[in-house]
Amino acid sequence: MVVIKGVAAKSILDSRKDKTILITVKTSIGNFSASSPNGKSTGKHAVKIYKKNLEEDIKTIKKFSDYFSKEIIDEFDDLRRIEDIVDGHVGANTLFALESAILKATAKEQKKQIWELINLKSRKTPRLVGNCIGGGKHSNSRKKPDFQEFLIIPNLKSTKESFEKSKEVKKDIKEILKRVDKNFENKKNDEDAWMTLLNEKEILDILKKIKLPLGVDIASSSFYKRNKYNYENPLLKRDSKEQLGYLSNLINNYNLFYIEDPFNEEDFESFSKLLKKFPNKLIVGDDLTVTNTKRLEKAIKMKSINAIIVKPNQVGSLIEMKRVCELAKKNNIKIVFSHRSGETEENILADLAFGFGADFIKCGITSKVREIKIRRLIEIEESLT
Ligand code: PEP
Ligand code: MG
Repeated sequence: MVVIKGVAAKSILDSRKDKTILITVKTSIGNFSASSPNGKSTGKHAVKIYKKNLEEDIKTIKKFSDYFSKEIIDEFDDLRRIEDIVDGHVGANTLFALESAILKATAKEQKKQIWELINLKSRKTPRLVGNCIGGGKHSNSRKKPDFQEFLIIPNLKSTKESFEKSKEVKKDIKEILKRVDKNFENKKNDEDAWMTLLNEKEILDILKKIKLPLGVDIASSSFYKRNKYNYENPLLKRDSKEQLGYLSNLINNYNLFYIEDPFNEEDFESFSKLLKKFPNKLIVGDDLTVTNTKRLEKAIKMKSINAIIVKPNQVGSLIEMKRVCELAKKNNIKIVFSHRSGETEENILADLAFGFGADFIKCGITSKVREIKIRRLIEIEESLT
């Protein structure tokens, strides 16, 4: 058993150079640290990442340090006791980092891998969803695609092969962008995806040539204002009916396999209309569902989605995250664990995704903070063969 002796917190920088939290748990068997990422597609209904702000959460953790001492953690569900102590006093980023550090200690003490602490019996490796070209809030050029992410989703025999394929394709895409986009500057965005001035149709014209399953994260709440989807590239507005028509054409013309946040985060109805039209595609909720059981229940009832993004720091509580995964599984909703656009070198996402039997994991293709998660997944997969 792990006895907690105290908890410390400090701020570090994420891949975007924004501040985030790193928590160190002092235990009977040593010190263990974990950090939280930061997102930009945050969703109105997501839990606040800090109670007031990062500095205040750091102070709160210090103040609470003694309360944690003598807490004993034996298994995943013991995290509930930690939540009882800090509930309502800190935000989602703080809670996620704290619980992750505790899981690391528990795994070490029990000579187990972190994923082995999670008991959902599934032993399949999630399929990689890799961000190849980006736009929206993740890219800061003056002209850019309105959709946030253009994703490639290989399905090769092993994660390692899919990873190699994704890297190779991303390199090829760069060469094509150089030819097609006169203004291409070889620049990458927050998630290390290529930045381009092209619009979504021009990008999909390029991507369809690579013959891999394709996806998009439209992150449409980020350009939904006054009941319209306000496209900038080219400049035009679409109401929800027009958005439905437009996306249906894109899905048909480009054979899209994965469509995340096609409509505004409040519009469960339009999601259901799209799913009804395309029951064999993945209609994925992110800002819609914000890793929250209540939102997922509503999405299930309204038949809005058949896949859900799980972002651990969107909810903070790993107990709540577990409930979301269980509810999704029970209702045949595919699970997509996801990184955030501002990442750290934390790799626990891979263990959580594997442990909870995720169907997919979205964690980029290149750059240290993205690759570290994929490499951990490969390590897990290879340890089982
Ligand atoms: C997303 O929208 O799926 C995403 C990863 O974005 P962010 O981390 O910026 O919220
Ligand atoms: Mg998203």
